[in-house]
Amino acid sequence: MSRIALVLGAGLGGTVAAQTLRSLLPQGDRVVLVEREERHIFPPSLLWLMVGERSADALDLRHRLVAAPDHSE
Ligand SMILES: Cc1cc2nc3c(=O)[nH]c(=O)nc-3n(C[C@H](O)[C@H](O)[C@H](O)COP(=O)(O)OP(=O)(O)OC[C@H]3O[C@@H](n4cnc5c(N)ncnc54)[C@H](O)[C@@H]3O)c2cc1C
Repeated sequence: MSRIALVLGAGLGGTVAAQTLRSLLPQGDRVVLVEREERHIFPPSLLWLMVGERSADALDLRHRLVAAPDHSE
C-alpha cells in the first residue's frame, strides 16, 4: 500500500526534508510539500539587499518543483 508523506512549509527545512524523504521512501510513496506563500525569499540573501548588491525582485524566488520523483532505484 502506498503512503503519502506531507511536509508543511517549503522553507529551507521543509525543502530539505521533502528531498530527503523522496530519496529514502519507495517510489510508490508520494511526498507532498505544501507552502502557503506564492514566493520564497532565501533569508541569508537579505544581506545582499541590505548592502544594495541585489534588488528585492532578484530575491523573489517562485516556488518550483523541489521534490521530483526519484527514478534512480
Ligand atoms: C539575514 C539572514 C541571514 C542568515 N544567514 C544564515 C546563514 O548564513 N546560515 C544559516 O544556517 N542560517 C542563516 N539564516 C537563518 C536561516 O535563513 C533560517 O534559519 C532558515 O531559513 C529557517 O528555515 P526554516 O525552513 O526553519 O523556516 P523558513 O525558511 O521560515 O520556512 C518556513 C516556511 O513555512 C511556511 N509556512 C508557515 N506556516 C505554514 C502553513 N501553515 N502552511 C504552509 N506553509 C507554512 C512559510 O511560509 C515558510 O515558507 C539567516 C537568516 C537571515 C534573516
